[in-house]
Amino acid sequence: MAFEGACAQVEKQCYTKKEFADIEIELYEKTINRGFMFGYLPFPSVMFCGALAEKSITIDPSGDVHKCWNFIGDHNNRVGELMNHGIQFNHTYARWKEYDPYTNSTCKECDIFPLCTGGCPYNILVLGQAPQNNCIPWKWNLDRVVNLAYESGGDMPSSEHHQDHKLS
Ligand code: SF4
Ligand code: SF4
Repeated sequence: MAFEGACAQVEKQCYTKKEFADIEIELYEKTINRGFMFGYLPFPSVMFCGALAEKSITIDPSGDVHKCWNFIGDHNNRVGELMNHGIQFNHTYARWKEYDPYTNSTCKECDIFPLCTGGCPYNILVLGQAPQNNCIPWKWNLDRVVNLAYESGGDMPSSEHHQDHKLS
């Protein structure tokens, strides 16, 4: 993924996604060793983030409507405006509405689809990221995450329990 703006200055100091996936496991192990509960079992999801849900929007203080919260305060990239009679969407909204990670052959053939469901849509739609570069740590550490959950006794089948105790 290409870093933009201020982040571009620290790109070389950042971990690759694979490196981060390894370090994430080390950090999970440290928290477990210090007595924290690990109850984060991966689960399939129909979409990666709420920004893709039709009824999910973010409204900033100026009344601009966004899908992804990365755009808060970015007037030029709003997907609509809050009006007295409701929300007036513009043409940018269609980009989000029409995005369908299930049409991506790379992701559909991926071992962990639909646990990941194509990753962050902002990276794809806005930054032009290729799907194979939009992977999340589970791509490299899923087996270790599941083993940690098993070994630490963190098998939590209910979503309510999952939300209460997840570590990431
Ligand atoms: S940055 Fe990505 S994951 Fe976060 S809200 Fe925006 S689209 Fe969703
Ligand atoms: S891990 Fe990567 S290739 Fe697999 S579904 Fe997620 S984004 Fe697509």
